[in-house]
Amino acid sequence: MKCSKCQNGNMKIKLGQYGLFAACDKFPNCRNPIKLNKFLYEALKKEGINIYGWDHTCWKCKKTTKVYTYFINKQLKPYMEEYIELGNLGLDSCIPIDEYLKANFSTINKNYSNTQHKYCTSNNCSHCNALIGNHFIVDDPHDIFNDWITSDLDKYIVGKIPFEKLNIQEEDLTGLEEYYIQIGKKKQKKQLLFF
Ligand SMILES: [Zn+2]
Ligand SMILES: [Zn+2]
Repeated sequence: MKCSKCQNGNMKIKLGQYGLFAACDKFPNCRNPIKLNKFLYEALKKEGINIYGWDHTCWKCKKTTKVYTYFINKQLKPYMEEYIELGNLGLDSCIPIDEYLKANFSTINKNYSNTQHKYCTSNNCSHCNALIGNHFIVDDPHDIFNDWITSDLDKYIVGKIPFEKLNIQEEDLTGLEEYYIQIGKKKQKKQLLFF
């Protein structure tokens, strides 16, 4: 994404003293820091949201069922100035995206999770309707683990949600921003421990 100030540099996600933010990569010649939620909004507006899907063996009926999620963190990787390990942002982390998936995929529903003790947006088995927990799909997607670790996930893209189909406001992304700022702070603390 081009810098709106100098029209020359590209906006990149950086890790600063106060966590993650976005700024022009021509710094220090150009200073144009913007808040992360504003940047996330612009990046998703430009790219849409990738939907990833793969085969998963149902824990209950043992049949193969397709599971779906999004990984906003993976989509942000090309925008990073240096590699920053971000937590996974998939199902149940952005309400407007969850709402879209629920409306368009019959096997994605708001389910009560007995392990998380709350309702969450997650996949159901297409054969027996058992809940496939988000832990196995978003946090630790072991079915695609090797590709997930190398970020080579393009082959799992089954579709893209055009941004205009979602009712997202910049404020909706504030929660994501706060989450990432926490990660940024944690990472900085870790770095300090190494020195
Ligand atoms: Zn610039
Ligand atoms: Zn099943």
